[in-house]
Amino acid sequence: MAVEDSKVRVVVRVRPPTPRELESQRRPVVQVVDERVLVFDPEEPDGGFLGLKWSGTHDGPKKKAKDLTFVFDRVFGEAATQQDVFQHTTHSILDRFLQGYNCSVFAYGATGAGKTHTMLGREGDPGIMYLTTMELYKRLEAHQEEKRFEVLISYQEVYNEQIHDLLEPKGPLAIREDPDKGVMVQGLSFHQPTSAEQLLEMLTRGNCNRTQHPTDANATSSRSHAIFQIFVKQQDRVPGLTQALRVAKMSLIDLAGSERASSTHAKGERLREGANINRSLLALINVLNALADAKGRKSHVPYRDSKLTRLLKDSIGGNCHTVMIATVSPSSLAYEDTYNTLKYADRAKEI
Ligand code: ADP
Ligand code: MG
Repeated sequence: MAVEDSKVRVVVRVRPPTPRELESQRRPVVQVVDERVLVFDPEEPDGGFLGLKWSGTHDGPKKKAKDLTFVFDRVFGEAATQQDVFQHTTHSILDRFLQGYNCSVFAYGATGAGKTHTMLGREGDPGIMYLTTMELYKRLEAHQEEKRFEVLISYQEVYNEQIHDLLEPKGPLAIREDPDKGVMVQGLSFHQPTSAEQLLEMLTRGNCNRTQHPTDANATSSRSHAIFQIFVKQQDRVPGLTQALRVAKMSLIDLAGSERASSTHAKGERLREGANINRSLLALINVLNALADAKGRKSHVPYRDSKLTRLLKDSIGGNCHTVMIATVSPSSLAYEDTYNTLKYADRAKEI
């Protein structure tokens, strides 16, 4: 694989404050400056930034502000719509995908930062998984005359280093690497939703099948990585000639929360689970770091270290296009998580 051609786009989405954050009388710690720049923990000159203070908030005695400026490929403030995020992330790699390159889009961030909202969305406001599939249908239909195509979708999770089908739940599934077809998950179900409603129903049902376990820190924290994949097969319609079949897959991933397992006081089973989550998430981070370090030279990329990275081996690095959507809360309640996420996203820009 030619690591030199690797293409990664890194964007940040700041969600609106939740009612709890607004009530908590804490200050916002992320200031969106423009569509590419944000400031973390800005210094507040007398009076504060316009629109930055929430009801005269205080965090008690304040340490010196970090006042860190970050630049990303795009920064989305709380007013950004799902359509805005889609247009400036996945939409920009669809051409590449239709040319036959595998692509991946990750939502990264702590629990509660807005990953599921961005990828799946909610009723009446669907996210990137839905918007991407619908846009693909539209594009392929426009070329129906010249091309024969087939679209298949799958939805699976990596939880506790096991792979589960989210659309047809059954026992854990195994990964196989096929020399022709690439990475395959044995027994995974593939589907062809025939309407927008059916697609939405599948996404919602799959999400309900994700494994959730209560922990001390957060009753609904998600420890599973949800992977929605769209497979497109295309073949030119040329009479009397057998044309090459082009196959590509787009992986849209709602990652497990990136917060430290240690902060949840997890014990026993949950701790093992925590360690395994970290295994897939840390392995992903290591793969991306290795790709960043490898820029311009050959080096070992540790795809084999976890289920998630094995699954995505043919979808990150090389000629694949990747979008990293880092999601953050605007509130000082999530100070450390936001800081860690921004630092990581900043590092990912080097890939
Ligand atoms: P995560 O999946 O990262 O744990 P969620 O996507 O579940 O976080 O978001 C946490 C809460 O914030 C949810 O109630 C969600 O509806 C809300 N939320 C997240 N992002 C946005 C957004 N951009 N606009 C409005 N509400 C949001
Ligand atoms: Mg979630």
